Amino acid sequence: MAPSTPDDLASKLRRNGLHVTAQRLAVLRAVTAGPHRTTEAIERSVRTEIGAISRQAVYDALAVLTERGVIRRIQPAGSPARYEDRVGDNHHHLICRTCGRVDDVDCAVDAVPCLTAADDRGYEIDEAEVIYWGRCPECAAAGRAPTTTTSTSTTTSTSKPPAASSKENRRVDQ
Ligand SMILES: [Zn+2]
Ligand SMILES: [Zn+2]
Repeated sequence: MAPSTPDDLASKLRRNGLHVTAQRLAVLRAVTAGPHRTTEAIERSVRTEIGAISRQAVYDALAVLTERGVIRRIQPAGSPARYEDRVGDNHHHLICRTCGRVDDVDCAVDAVPCLTAADDRGYEIDEAEVIYWGRCPECAAAGRAPTTTTSTSTTTSTSKPPAASSKENRRVDQ
């Protein structure tokens, strides 16, 4: 894929009915530069490019770009939100429980929604969000154990309630 020029990105914004601002351009460029980046990583990248920008401005730009379908937001369990510019193809994600690596994988059946609900209960289903959890090849090869326990929550709810009260029981009987 050829790298996007500023003109490409600007016209992408315009095509989606958005005014072109330096901040939106920088945010879009940061998302385009690396798929599945977190808000924090995008913010760092934008700061490097255009200098001072408030966190709120980055959030606002991400929100409006997502809303207009210019970028896609994914939020896997236990992970911060991530953004990518590969939109509209219903691709899925492979996520490593050990190192958190995220990879794209094409839609299993190439059409939305990928999975047919056993019973749609009358809903008009337009999407099935699919995430394949596991270990990436590197982590598997290195024998690194998964650290995230999203589905296997070992409930150790025997934790004591917080220490009653630190107030002294003041006895006034002398
Ligand atoms: Zn891994
Ligand atoms: Zn993706």
